Amino acid sequence: MFEIYDRLAEQALQGEAPSEDDGLWVLEGEDVQLLPLLQAAYAPREKHFGRTVMVHVLNNVQNGLCAEDCGYCAQSKSSEAAIRKYPMKSDEEILAEAENAARAGASRYCMVLSGRGATLEHTRHLAELIRTVKETLPIEVCLSAGLVNDEQARILAEVGLDRLNHNLNTSASHYPEICSTHSYADRVETLQAAKNHGIGSCSGMIVGMGESSRDILEVAFELRELEVPSIPVNFLIPIEGNRVLSDGSLTPERCLRALSLVRLVNPGAEVRVAGGREGHLRAMGSLALWPANSLFIEGYLTTRGDDERDTYQMIEDAGFEVHGNPTWQAARDAGVDPASNPTPDAAEPAQGSFRLRGGDGEILKPEISRPTRGV
Ligand code: SF4
Repeated sequence: MFEIYDRLAEQALQGEAPSEDDGLWVLEGEDVQLLPLLQAAYAPREKHFGRTVMVHVLNNVQNGLCAEDCGYCAQSKSSEAAIRKYPMKSDEEILAEAENAARAGASRYCMVLSGRGATLEHTRHLAELIRTVKETLPIEVCLSAGLVNDEQARILAEVGLDRLNHNLNTSASHYPEICSTHSYADRVETLQAAKNHGIGSCSGMIVGMGESSRDILEVAFELRELEVPSIPVNFLIPIEGNRVLSDGSLTPERCLRALSLVRLVNPGAEVRVAGGREGHLRAMGSLALWPANSLFIEGYLTTRGDDERDTYQMIEDAGFEVHGNPTWQAARDAGVDPASNPTPDAAEPAQGSFRLRGGDGEILKPEISRPTRGV
């Protein structure tokens, strides 16, 4: 009865991917048992990462004002989400926020800019910021700045950018359903440019956008093909005003099956339980740590999420440990525990099946949402 789980685990430990049939079974087999599946996905996770959890902090350094029409994105021209739009933050602000991320224990600081892509001049400016963060803080730097060509990748590689993020989001065949202003192939080219210049790539998916299980499978295999070392798995956050809203497929079990599949197909990758973790997994959130070894704290680009305290407590309660940056790790070893004295929030009213702690049921981050809708 448990042979298939043992086989999946053994294949992943050998670095082999499951067959297509097994992958589809993981996603939609009626006889799948969740705990043995999670345990199978845990085998390669433990082999490569032990029981550690890497923590990332996102900085939305430029919000909205994007001419692209990605249907899931509150920053898109096609979205009527009540977000505050702003051009790129000042260098001082970006550097101060990097310092805060390092202090919170984050091992990576991800700067994210809205838009199709940066100009060459803008890329040089970003490169200088990346150089400064890397020279002054014990934290690795990731950048998400839209499409990146070969020359831009060269500039970013020169300053030691650790990772370039560009999500595939969904399969090639489903891509036109979510975006018409750029193509899946454009996204793959950006990942190739990063790879050509030795920058680690970070690319993942968004589940819950009306895709089939086969679409999820295709993305997982494409990421394997591209040898992507860092894979964020997002679960669509239903932001009012966006064109693509939840397709109703996202139960905690569906999320955990998708994470398990991604891990089994990409056994050595840093698999991240990313956007939508809190609202879609809810009480089952800690089970995501069996397939995933990485997460975000303090929310996402435009939406709220659990803070450092609640997240670290969840990690510790599940028997895992935060793998922080070296300075944070040293402080912790000296007896300073960021997960101490937690004060869990009371349960909040549900907003459909998606629920976040605190914030009176509001999904958007307070600093992102406009005070008056429609302004
Ligand atoms: S995902 Fe990026 S490119 Fe697409 S609309 Fe949002 S900010 Fe623009």
